Amino acid sequence: MRYIDLRSDTVTRPTEEMRAAMATAVVGDDVYGDDPTVHELESLAAKLCGKEAALFMPTGTMANQVAVMTFTKRGDEVILGRFSHIAAYEAGAAAVLSAVNYSAVDNADEIITAADIAARVRSKDVHFPDTGLVCLENALGSGRVVPLDAMKSAYEEAKKHKIPVYLDGARIFNAALHLGVDASEIAKYCDALMFCISKGLCAPVGSLLAGSGDFIARARRFRKMLGGGMRQAGVLSAAGLISLNTMRHRLSDDHKNADYLAEGLAQIKGITVDYTRRDINLVFFTIKKDGFDHAAFPAKMLDAGIKINGIAGGMYRFVTHNDVSRKDIDRVIDMVSSL
Ligand SMILES: *Cc1c(COP(=O)(O)O)cnc(C)c1O
Repeated sequence: MRYIDLRSDTVTRPTEEMRAAMATAVVGDDVYGDDPTVHELESLAAKLCGKEAALFMPTGTMANQVAVMTFTKRGDEVILGRFSHIAAYEAGAAAVLSAVNYSAVDNADEIITAADIAARVRSKDVHFPDTGLVCLENALGSGRVVPLDAMKSAYEEAKKHKIPVYLDGARIFNAALHLGVDASEIAKYCDALMFCISKGLCAPVGSLLAGSGDFIARARRFRKMLGGGMRQAGVLSAAGLISLNTMRHRLSDDHKNADYLAEGLAQIKGITVDYTRRDINLVFFTIKKDGFDHAAFPAKMLDAGIKINGIAGGMYRFVTHNDVSRKDIDRVIDMVSSL
């Protein structure tokens, strides 16, 4: 049975073109530095981000944690969003691996402003931790895209205090598409960043960490320390090259499909789409109907061949991607309205 899977864009399967490229990839041992396909992917990633160098990582989570480790020292304080991926969805890794504290910003829109940073930067005092890093996110996991001027002012504030800025750009190409700019325009306002190729870009595995040559050289050692040094990773990088050269240019389909899905859902009685964060391929909505069984909703959808996540934080999240067509969305809307 073919399922329509709306749980995430991480569920995308590698395309036929990717599978063929993976089968024939020229590879070497990347820990020895001699896998040409990994090098090709890293060079392209660096170029797209406007940075000197990039490093192929097994996951976005490891990329984030290696970045925190590379930028900070034990006991430092990191300024980040309360619901940022690093703070909320990485099993508390930064406390374990880098021994850092968080100074968490808790704004309703999750956008970190220059004022938030100014208010949190520590002065030199024997009682205080040092502020070691600012972590931004764009697009936010909530689906909202942070405007460029907000990123710019946050970055400039951090620079005023000589604090490095890291960007979790898991979906940076979705953010860039929404803003109508190249990803490098967003990456201007950070010293290093990560993006995922395993989400909407359809690669089976992987994320790229990009930054200065010196930063990447140090990050490479921490990647090894955490067990992320991969050998014939060219097999995976071959798919990643197709992510960046081909699949990147079809993300607009996902955004249009998300708009279409949102419009369809919004027509259904009792459903309210959250349009305040309808920027990328993530559609958030509430269902308020008398007697609606939230606990049974995912199972009912599954019976109809549609995979969804249960309600989280009072909202449902449906995600569009390469394996979800217009026709699929029509089916989803019909199914939801029948419940
Ligand atoms: C998905 C995601 C990550 C982590 O990526 P994994 O490859 O799943 O570890 C990090 N940050 C954000 C904002 C994400 O959406």
